[in-house]
Amino acid sequence: MKDDFEMQNPLKPSTPASRLPDFSAIKPKDVLPALEELLQDYHRGIETRLASGRKNGWTLVESEASWADELSRAWSPVSHLNSVAGNEKLRKAYNAGLKRLTRHENWRQHHQGIYQAYYDLRHSPEFKSLSPVQQRIVDLELREFHLAGVDLSDKAKKKYRKLVMRLSKLGSKFSENLIDATQAWTLHLEDRTRLEGLPRAELNMLKGIARQHKTQGWMVDLSAPSFQAVMTHGEDRELRREVYTAFVTRASDQGQKPGQWDNMPLIEEMLSLRHRLARLLGFDNYVEYALERRMAETPGSVLDFLHSLAEQARSAAQEQYGALQDFARSQGAMLPLEAWDIAYWSERYRQAELHLSDEELKPYFPLDRMLDALFFTTERLFGVSLSADSSVSTWHPDVRFFWLEDHEGRRFAGLYMDLFTRKHKRSGAWMDVCLSRRKLEAGEQLPVAYLNCNFSPPTVEQPCLMTHDDVETLFHEFGHCLHHTLTEVEWPQINGINSVEWDAVELPSQLMEYWGWDDEVLSRFAHHYQDDKPMPADLKNRLLRSRNFQKALFLVRQLEYALCDFRLHLEYNPEAPVNPLAILDQVRSEISVVPVPEWNRFLNSFSHIFGGGYSAGYYSYLWAEQLAADAWGRFHEEGALESETGEALRREILSVGASRPAMESFIAFRGRPPEPAPLLESYGLL
Ligand SMILES: [Zn+2]
Repeated sequence: MKDDFEMQNPLKPSTPASRLPDFSAIKPKDVLPALEELLQDYHRGIETRLASGRKNGWTLVESEASWADELSRAWSPVSHLNSVAGNEKLRKAYNAGLKRLTRHENWRQHHQGIYQAYYDLRHSPEFKSLSPVQQRIVDLELREFHLAGVDLSDKAKKKYRKLVMRLSKLGSKFSENLIDATQAWTLHLEDRTRLEGLPRAELNMLKGIARQHKTQGWMVDLSAPSFQAVMTHGEDRELRREVYTAFVTRASDQGQKPGQWDNMPLIEEMLSLRHRLARLLGFDNYVEYALERRMAETPGSVLDFLHSLAEQARSAAQEQYGALQDFARSQGAMLPLEAWDIAYWSERYRQAELHLSDEELKPYFPLDRMLDALFFTTERLFGVSLSADSSVSTWHPDVRFFWLEDHEGRRFAGLYMDLFTRKHKRSGAWMDVCLSRRKLEAGEQLPVAYLNCNFSPPTVEQPCLMTHDDVETLFHEFGHCLHHTLTEVEWPQINGINSVEWDAVELPSQLMEYWGWDDEVLSRFAHHYQDDKPMPADLKNRLLRSRNFQKALFLVRQLEYALCDFRLHLEYNPEAPVNPLAILDQVRSEISVVPVPEWNRFLNSFSHIFGGGYSAGYYSYLWAEQLAADAWGRFHEEGALESETGEALRREILSVGASRPAMESFIAFRGRPPEPAPLLESYGLL
């Protein structure tokens, strides 16, 4: 009989039939014991299978899928909680778990016996009898074995393992430093004089932050909504400078606490170790290694793509910046504009040109209505509806859970939505996998996703009112969730978003954003939260016109991030490592239009490439944006809410996951390879 502790451990496989995590029951002390037991099952299972002398073939692939999925089912809620409801104890358990899992990954990737079993299967008559999807799983696994250095000597393998462990630790430390540095800075204001210009909702939010810190008045912190409120609306230039400085010097050698939580040594070490890792595996540099798993085939094709966009965008961006300066001067601003003036004057300029302010728009975008809009779009395009279930255990009272149901009301997937900003929650918006679709002996494990945003929470006076950017963000993350939940592939290795090429994985999310701009969707759902009146036509037109307003400036900034990331990883030279800031400066002098202060330490908080999975891959956003703009072209031609086009999207892209290369899926949907014109058009550059 199991002891009490074991019976209570909610991360064990025996627990509930729905297989959803019991969040209210998960404790940091459960993490390691659950992982240890699952890993033991995995390792023992492998050794028994390999020692039996029987031919393993496809059955081994099946067993591995099951062991690996049980592990990820236990780990996913832990890693998720660490991002949305972190505390010191959980962070410790998370780090210990991560270390244990990385060790396991290395064990598995370098296991000659497992590799041999896949290799034998690939070269056996059985392989020909497998379905194309099964064959692809075997091929992708073999590719991963090679990329993990299965062919290396024992000594080199040891080196490889050390590098991977160290890189994983550095990535975690980078994120921790950033969270700590972000939380360490606040500015308490006892009266409102310095907050002149901030709309009421923003003031209320800052009041809320003060209350969270158990104090009166207003408090500015470095969470995204608070930062943006001051940068966009604050008339006090000195206040903007102060907040900007704190924000862009987080975790660096600059700012209020120079050197504390400094991420630059970590960045330098990561670049060096990534390069060594790539060389060890026989690649010239880290970019060559990274592209093995991407849709883009060569570094040249990515550089060409980025440079040709930059060429098209830069002069438009210069023009737009000139217009912004002219406007600011005409309003009595001191020139030159500084980095902390840009968002403020852009908003003034936007208001003057379009008479459009977030404050005018937000009452038309109450969160619940926008969820209705999202669900309506999903129903029309895919015949899928969502129904809330408050009985499912979550990690915070604000979190909602939904089942996805087909025409007949059959539940086939689930979705958690955690939408409001909170203390101890990671900033930004992101989607993550909770469960992957998989056949079980007792039926089927349904795919379940987490959708996370950081919108301003409702106040006593009003519901959560969104900016249109927030609406786009919601649609974007929901697109990722659809990609994961509409999968029809039953193998977790390659279903949903699993194993999809990094530079294609943003296709569904960026495509989904287009419905946040669709005329019919807006007409039906963008209604005033108080009297339910639809958005006036004139306001809607101004909103639609705003879509490309000053957009080349935005594009140039994205190109700056993408090129900087790509070049940092492509040009790294261990003989003469260049200061990463120097490369950033070079990129900026080539393509940037808006001046940035010399002490800006943007790289130190560039979590995408140093704390997340986008290293040598930030270009993916633009790459996928090209795919999305082109895919939207078909909806534009056939009808934005045309169910046949929706079905085609589901059939050719959303449901297939990585069961075939992304390029094939794109061509199956669009009838041809992607073209750049629709992207340029979407930025108003044609
Ligand atoms: Zn995304």
